[in-house]
Amino acid sequence: MSDWQAKEGLTIAIDGPSGSGKGTVAKMLAKEVGLPVLDTGLLYRLVGSVALTRAVALDSAESLSGLVDGLLVSIDWTVDGIFFEGENITASLRSEQVGEAASRVAAQPLVREKLLGLQRLIAQAGCIMDGRDIGTVVLPDAPAKFFLTASVRERARRRWAQLKDQGGSSLEAVVDELKMRDQRDQERQHAPLCQAADAITIDSTTMRVDDVVDRMLGVLERRGLIQAAA
Ligand code: C5P
Repeated sequence: MSDWQAKEGLTIAIDGPSGSGKGTVAKMLAKEVGLPVLDTGLLYRLVGSVALTRAVALDSAESLSGLVDGLLVSIDWTVDGIFFEGENITASLRSEQVGEAASRVAAQPLVREKLLGLQRLIAQAGCIMDGRDIGTVVLPDAPAKFFLTASVRERARRRWAQLKDQGGSSLEAVVDELKMRDQRDQERQHAPLCQAADAITIDSTTMRVDDVVDRMLGVLERRGLIQAAA
């Protein structure tokens, strides 16, 4: 059982750049407050991955739009990940190659618009949602928004530590990839990665994950959004 009880239908937005620890923090916070957690990056990763497999141009709005229409009827997006044609394919979406493709398709306004409805629909019942534009676009009225960040070197180090067992790239290569991804996510015209005016920034460069989660719990409690479970 969770230590905290969240207000019914509570939505919490967690945004931040790649490798900022959003996913880990969101999962830990979800456990504490008993809310489902939904990773919106998976939606863009799925579109990027299927586009790569089907050789659809990653910058062709028209082709991607048709592809997303087809995907929306055959996916199930849950706390356990993304089910495509009945199979949980989440693990296969975690590669750097798919992350890069996701970041390119995510720059297409039509793709974003088509995925927006699904994100809002799922959030209605209450959840923690993590991504890039949750506090600014998807859930602008969320009563709690966090913007998680960390230095590019620390974010790269975390990602590299995850990838190195799979024989992944050097730390320097990961730094370069992250910088490129940051730039594309921040500079795109539509729903760029940026902090909502009412979001609380947490720089996790030198913080332990537990401390980040405690800080968030403190904010939620002070705002009366959670209370200690009886
Ligand atoms: O968070 P993750 O690395 O899985 O996201 C992959 C890519 O999907 C990001 O680099 C970003 O371009 C895109 N994305 C987005 N908006 C979101 C979530 C992810 O543009 N809400």
